[in-house]
Amino acid sequence: MYLYQHQLLPKDEVAISPDDRAYYFGDGIYEVFRVYNGVLFEPEGHYRRLEKSAREVRIPLPYGVDKLHSLLLELIGANRLQEGTVYMQISRGVAPRSHPFPQQAEPVVMAYCSEVSRTLKSMQGGIRAVTADDIRWLKCDLKTLNLLANVMAKQHALDQGADEVILHRNGTITECSASNFMMVKEGELFTHPANHLILHGITREVVLRLARQLDIRCHERAFSIEDLSSAEEAFITGTVTEITPVVTVDGKPVGRGEPGPVTRRLQQAFEQLIGIDQA
Ligand code: PMP
Repeated sequence: MYLYQHQLLPKDEVAISPDDRAYYFGDGIYEVFRVYNGVLFEPEGHYRRLEKSAREVRIPLPYGVDKLHSLLLELIGANRLQEGTVYMQISRGVAPRSHPFPQQAEPVVMAYCSEVSRTLKSMQGGIRAVTADDIRWLKCDLKTLNLLANVMAKQHALDQGADEVILHRNGTITECSASNFMMVKEGELFTHPANHLILHGITREVVLRLARQLDIRCHERAFSIEDLSSAEEAFITGTVTEITPVVTVDGKPVGRGEPGPVTRRLQQAFEQLIGIDQA
């Protein structure tokens, strides 16, 4: 079942118009929530980010967070989702193609669930990354549907036989195509500050919180590709990828070229948080 406006409907009854501004302009915002054991993970962070994205692109949310939350719970219940994700997007609405905001259009809400298993193989063994220019706009903190630069960057990585791309602006690392990036140096954690150049990841926040609880010093400070070349460990964070070690960058090993001890400790703390039995 899909959520369309405020109704639950079978997918083939969801009538998205070709005049939806999401389709013409990518004129909309979205969120991807994680569900563990049938329960939404860190929903407040996602709602806060959604409200911020909506405010800044001036799309009026059709209902408040309480109503949105109850609709998402209904959606999860109707789909009997235990492990997976909920994708939700809100476009500015339906109107003939023209750049100015339409006078009449009402926002279009659409959401659905996907069963997704944890990506254990890459979480355990790590992934290979390549670097690429971050050519995105200067409002990367807004979760908008305009993802062409992210799509191009991800494909660039895959075309080179890698798994993910590490984006940089003039050598300063920002984040990845759909995740945030962190490195460990002299046992301390570094990640780009949460400003307009990165998405303020919910997982990034959770990981910083866990790191501080584990007495790992954290620095929200920009660093360069050159700084990364002498890092001991690196990993990405995201709703789907959780904490996934990066073992090579541009073909060169990070540290020993295997997931490191700080990454492992954080992964264990994360698993505890989401209620995975480690016995
Ligand atoms: N950066 C980008 C560009 C993303 O698309 C995502 C995925 N939403 C993230 C970071 C990670 O954010 P989160 O932890 O909230 O999934």
